[in-house]
Amino acid sequence: MSIPKGQTISVKVIDLVNVSGVPNKSTYAPPVEGVEIFPASPSLCFLLEHNSGRRLLFDLGVAFNSSKLGEKLQKDLANFGWKVEVKEDLAVFLDKNGVPPDSIEAKSNSFASHTHWDHKGDISTFPPSTDLIVGPNTVAKFVHGDGNGPYGGITLDDMQGRTLREVKCDIKVGPFPAMDYFGDGSLYILDSPGHDHGHICALARTTSNPDTFVLFGGDAAHHGSELRPTKHLPMPKSIVPNPQTGLMHPPLCPGDWFRDTNQKRGLDPEGPLYRPSFAIASMEHTLQTIEKIQEMDGNESVLCLLAHDPSVRHKSMPLFPESLNDWKSKGLRKFLDWSWVGDVWNELERNLAMPKST
Ligand SMILES: [Zn+2]
Repeated sequence: MSIPKGQTISVKVIDLVNVSGVPNKSTYAPPVEGVEIFPASPSLCFLLEHNSGRRLLFDLGVAFNSSKLGEKLQKDLANFGWKVEVKEDLAVFLDKNGVPPDSIEAKSNSFASHTHWDHKGDISTFPPSTDLIVGPNTVAKFVHGDGNGPYGGITLDDMQGRTLREVKCDIKVGPFPAMDYFGDGSLYILDSPGHDHGHICALARTTSNPDTFVLFGGDAAHHGSELRPTKHLPMPKSIVPNPQTGLMHPPLCPGDWFRDTNQKRGLDPEGPLYRPSFAIASMEHTLQTIEKIQEMDGNESVLCLLAHDPSVRHKSMPLFPESLNDWKSKGLRKFLDWSWVGDVWNELERNLAMPKST
């Protein structure tokens, strides 16, 4: 994996949203008997603080004022059985915690990674000095084209007095076309199309000597079960600590069940449990983007965090105001990489008579 040398940037994770009641089949395929409901999940925001004092956000979560979601979306969510809880708007949370919204230079992702309701937050709560940063070819689609719909988009309100910027990804970082945002290697915006038009991920350098990174995956995938295992990161024979209990013993050993389940569903027995069940822009590009993230995920110096991955709620995960930068020396991946297996196992045990693992 080729990543140029560079500076570091501070990363803080903010979890203000809880989405529950989401049926698995609405997001993943092919189905697994007994796994019906996706575990309650966040819609994460990341505060990035550069050495120069410049601040950025990657993703804004969900608007606290639910009327901002629009009538159709609110009705659809109720009909689907989704429950969306928002503690407060991100701008309000930051202001209360010593980060005035006018100190934020730009927000990225959703307006680029995608403009969906569960990522674009309520931009009107930020001052016009906060730019919108959008992914490649997004302005043509959303501002001058037909990209806006009930699930998101860039509205006139979003743009009111605000600068809209589109990233240009003209260098290569790992397998991704990328942009070196600060020009010093601390933050790369990654062109990662598929889930929605102009979807972007980002790669922040969390330490140097040795280099470590956090990859913000947005909605390139939604759960660890779409990313792992792979040839880059095979499933261990036994998962320790046990992702159901957090205890070192007994370990969880999903081996035979996992391989059989994948084989019966026509999937690679050594590959991930699920594929995404939908893509708004392109399924082909979505799968290509997932393969690229899997390649990065195979590098033990990269921590991949998806916007809705419930694994980030593990008790060892440092949340704002703590910094995430020393994730590697804390051994965080040991707790997060396979925690998705615990989500699946809990659901199976709830719905089927599953043998207890030994
Ligand atoms: Zn989302």
